[in-house]
Amino acid sequence: MRLSHAFIPTLKETPAEAQIASHRLMLRAGLVRQTSAGIYAWLPLGLRVLRNIERIVRAEQDAAGAQEILMPTIQPAELWKESGRYEDYGKEMLRIRDRHDRDMLYGPTNEEMVTDLFRQSIRSYKELPQILYHIQWKFRDEVRPRFGVMRGREFLMKDAYSFDIDHAGAVNSYRKMMLAYMRTFQRMGLKAIPMEADTGPIGGDLSHEFIILAPTGESQVYYDAAFEEIDYLSGDSFSHEKPEDLARFFEVMTGHYAATDEKHDAARWDQVAANRKREGRGIEVGHIFYFGTKYTKSMGAVVAGPDGKPLHPEMGSYGVGVSRLVGAVIEASHDDNGIIWPDSIAPFKAAILNLKIGDAGCDALCERLYAAFGGNALYDDRADRAGAKFADADLMGHPWQVVVGPRGAAAGTVELKRRATGERVEVTPEEVLARIGA
Ligand code: ATP
Ligand code: MG
Repeated sequence: MRLSHAFIPTLKETPAEAQIASHRLMLRAGLVRQTSAGIYAWLPLGLRVLRNIERIVRAEQDAAGAQEILMPTIQPAELWKESGRYEDYGKEMLRIRDRHDRDMLYGPTNEEMVTDLFRQSIRSYKELPQILYHIQWKFRDEVRPRFGVMRGREFLMKDAYSFDIDHAGAVNSYRKMMLAYMRTFQRMGLKAIPMEADTGPIGGDLSHEFIILAPTGESQVYYDAAFEEIDYLSGDSFSHEKPEDLARFFEVMTGHYAATDEKHDAARWDQVAANRKREGRGIEVGHIFYFGTKYTKSMGAVVAGPDGKPLHPEMGSYGVGVSRLVGAVIEASHDDNGIIWPDSIAPFKAAILNLKIGDAGCDALCERLYAAFGGNALYDDRADRAGAKFADADLMGHPWQVVVGPRGAAAGTVELKRRATGERVEVTPEEVLARIGA
């Protein structure tokens, strides 16, 4: 993409409405624009990040054996009346009436709809387990939408649903998703801690939230220092296919104390050595639940069991805040100058900064590099001062900056800067791609 004609409306001034760094930076770097309270339009730079996050989430869901579907955003109220949640959900649910006076709603989550799909289609225990997921927009009329995309009213979620014949199977599916989640967050450069959590309106009795530590987080959290020290996935050889691996993984992940304030247990906290106690704020980027037969019973979903008798499958549900993650990653990775994207989700691998537009050497070298990146670079071809180009590249957070000036172009070199460390090296254009690995 050529910056001179890109739809990347950066802002010089800090927007007054933004209270936290990620919100400020997303607006300043031109990733999103608010269209109404808690509802955002995603612009090219932001959308590329959102898609990259989606891609990692999808890859790890697929690797865990979950099957992707796509359920609609608009749902009939009847399904929610069956489960009893139509009234319970309260004002967070956006209720809609169609032209035939039918009650509809914009889905805040999909337990009812997926249970309905399941009961229409699956007849026998032999077809279980099943894990279905989709990546779809949700609407929750939050009392206080804030912090940009972190607490929006419309937001993108990956939600998965597991169906098993018994408790042991459901627990295995739950562990499978926990492993997929830890790998997902790790690939985004995030260190997430699974914490015991309340089940809330979803219901059920086993639940973990995946928390990223950040001073601006909305949750108060308590955890053992072990989570800071151990790299749980180093040399990761856990297999989704092996229940004994999953049990071992679950044991490791839940062996130390970690809980959000709703589940905080003073007696158990006392057992943690004083010098290992950590308290702080955290951002919830994922939430998993096991809730047994809550929906399959209320909605009459049955399959024939091994003994021929009908049984209600045991379910779990598993959410990742895909759009919230864009903000969460920025909270975890930025400095005074702007965003620092992890390579895996950066909108572009690199920015190419042409310091002298119109200089034949600079122009030719930049064009050559730009072509070599094959769409993975943002080419700053604006007739601006070098200072403005450096500032914008830092603000947008590209992992690498390829700086092309007239002297270097004449000598056949460019400067390569790593955004995260500020480190700069002189290299030949040929070395650029080799180093970046594009
Ligand atoms: P919270 O306590 O933050 O309201 P929740 O427990 O209601 O979250 P879930 O129903 O478990 O959230 O949704 C799964 C994931 O979706 C959450 O872990 C979070 O990352 C994301 N999410 C939930 N609500 C929002 C929102 N209003 N804006 C953006 N992302 C959200
Ligand atoms: Mg909520």
